[in-house]
Amino acid sequence: METRRLFLQKASLSAMALAVPALTPLSAMTNSMNTPAKDSKTLRVAIMGLGSYGTRVAEAIQDCERVKLVGVISGTPSKIEDWKSNYNIPAKNCYNYDNFDAIKDNPDIDAVYVITPNALHKDQVIRVAKAGKHAICEKPMATSAEDGQAMVDACKAAGVHLLIGYRMHFEPNTLEVIRMRKDGELGDVRFFQGLCGFEIGNPNQWRMDRALSGGGAMMDIGIYAINGARYMIGDEPIWVTAQEVKTNPEKFKEGLDETITFQLGFPNGVIASCLSTYNMNNLDRFFLNGSKGWVEMQPSTGYGPIKGQTHKGPLNEPIVTHQTVQMDEMAAIIFDGKNPEVPVNGEEGVKDMKIIDAIFRAVETGGKVPLNLG
Ligand code: NAD
Repeated sequence: METRRLFLQKASLSAMALAVPALTPLSAMTNSMNTPAKDSKTLRVAIMGLGSYGTRVAEAIQDCERVKLVGVISGTPSKIEDWKSNYNIPAKNCYNYDNFDAIKDNPDIDAVYVITPNALHKDQVIRVAKAGKHAICEKPMATSAEDGQAMVDACKAAGVHLLIGYRMHFEPNTLEVIRMRKDGELGDVRFFQGLCGFEIGNPNQWRMDRALSGGGAMMDIGIYAINGARYMIGDEPIWVTAQEVKTNPEKFKEGLDETITFQLGFPNGVIASCLSTYNMNNLDRFFLNGSKGWVEMQPSTGYGPIKGQTHKGPLNEPIVTHQTVQMDEMAAIIFDGKNPEVPVNGEEGVKDMKIIDAIFRAVETGGKVPLNLG
């Protein structure tokens, strides 16, 4: 545990060294609302959706320096009872999906982390914002860019933060590659490859129900290649082409993508070539090539440890629990106005949703779809 704490401290220090501290108007407003002393306030979080990832986040929060799990929102009373005893959560901080708007009258909760099926995120985040609480939302933030933008607008109107659970944006080896690229160690970046997928099991789960998932592999795992292309290359794509392959149309019904290959074009002729699939295991690989060097990461976005090689040798940054670092960094974003090296705000989420919308359009039309991410 001692070693892990040191790892976490080192990771958060190196992330801080990379970040440019600045108060955004929103965080300045939040600071003055909550009057926290810098680096001292604990982010008190309620988790909505007590499923497999919600449980992983709850466990990771136990090792946080600045985050405490204080509440739950669930439709299953027996889960609430389990979480109350597992995490010492008081009854007054427990809600269900019908009554959680009352969280607005609960001064002991600062933020709600929405970890439910994708299509539910939009309405749930908007309700959290209307209750005056900061919203942390799992990826994909929504099932379309339009819905994502509505979430951004609602949080802005309510004066609360909207942060997306992009845990890789705080992962030390990932940040080291970004540092290498920024410091010119790779020369001019020219090509990125992102391969993301796994073989999906039970066809009856919500991930295979378009009404709840908004799509198949792309929404769930392909988004890592999209997001990764952007933070690895350090620019925004200007066009996309895409091709879909379905080996099992019985299982992958209309609107549920099994495998999509897609290409993103960036300014100056930089290209990303990516694969998103629910039909292959052991597929978690990033490759970045520049005029002076290269980086290969495998695994690149799984829970870790993240491993990689570069033209200079292996990546050797600390191994951390992604969600622990993510949550502590999110406390710093909310309370100290910290600017992370790679943003995790709602606008960042909307960019990925715009690309997903365009990928689906490119599959349909077979053409090149222009992108304007602003
Ligand atoms: P899960 O099925 O394990 O959990 C989903 C939870 O939502 C369950 O507790 C379920 O009871 C609850 N729920 C509420 N309303 C529901 C409804 N109408 N239908 C079905 N379930 C409902 O799923 P998960 O793997 O925990 O995924 C939840 C979210 O977290 C998804 O958006 C997913 O993309 C995201 N996720 C992110 C990561 C990551 O690494 N960042 C990893 C896994 C999942």
